[in-house]
Amino acid sequence: MTQVPHIRLNSGVEIPQFGFGVFQIDPADVGPALGTAFEAGYRHVDTAQMYRNEAEVGQAIVDSGLRRDEIFVTTKLDNDRHGHDEAVTALGESLDRLRLDHVDLFLVHWPRPAHDRYVETWKGFEKLAADGRARTIGVSNFQIPHLERLAAETGTVPAVNQIELHPHFPQEELRAYHREHGIVTEAWGPIGQGGDLLGDERLTALAEKYGRTPAQIVLRWHIELGNIVFPKSVTPARIRENIEVFDFELAAADMMTIAELDTGRRIGPNPDDFG
Ligand code: NAD
Repeated sequence: MTQVPHIRLNSGVEIPQFGFGVFQIDPADVGPALGTAFEAGYRHVDTAQMYRNEAEVGQAIVDSGLRRDEIFVTTKLDNDRHGHDEAVTALGESLDRLRLDHVDLFLVHWPRPAHDRYVETWKGFEKLAADGRARTIGVSNFQIPHLERLAAETGTVPAVNQIELHPHFPQEELRAYHREHGIVTEAWGPIGQGGDLLGDERLTALAEKYGRTPAQIVLRWHIELGNIVFPKSVTPARIRENIEVFDFELAAADMMTIAELDTGRRIGPNPDDFG
């Protein structure tokens, strides 16, 4: 079973650097997939209210027989639940579905700047952190101006910002901002959501050189950059393969080769417009 390193967040909470994402996993497949993941050593689950599978995640945690404090659980606020009181109520509903009395990390899923409520929402998150229903709070898909506004208008720096990040879209500027402000980067779509990234011949050449798969090369690149990742798969062999990235290292020259894959193009929506 793979042992995953932990990263200390600005709240003092420790998060496993590698986890399991359940976006677009059919609720019926969540139990078997998480069962395989827990056996392989995954101890961190990334879900969201929007994924509509929190109840199945909660059931899988019960079925695992693991202690609550052995598993790190993240969920995210639905886009239509912004607002101070609404955010507090929405987390309560998530906890009921997850059958937990707290989550380890609660994220604002998207800033929705056109609605201009994320500062108020964040103040609700501060309350949830103060009363322990969220051990740590963070954001997702926030751009630098959104983070600057939280810094100017509230008292809490998000522990993490979960953003689209993979070799085609490496987010250098935002990662540098995170480093300067003590925000840990979480990478969503870490292997490019099953698109053409993994077929790039520069990656397949590296895979051959290291005797690994292209997915493992990309996941190792994230680990060496200090990103937190939680790739998704429902295929048992891939679930096991993905976490096996802690027994090799990429040479500096090979990290540079991967940096050349930057296309400047997102797969997902632009957070400035989305929602
Ligand atoms: P991902 O980059 O993890 O790609 C998943 C896809 O890659 C799978 O569906 C499968 O087709 C393929 N795949 C998985 N393992 C593979 C392997 N070993 N070899 C070849 N192909 C493989 O994309 P994702 O699921 O979108 O991102 C991971 C997690 O990030 C999600 O499950 C979710 O928890 C989170 N997420 C968050 C946001 C956000 O807005 N905050 C958005 C999308 C995803």
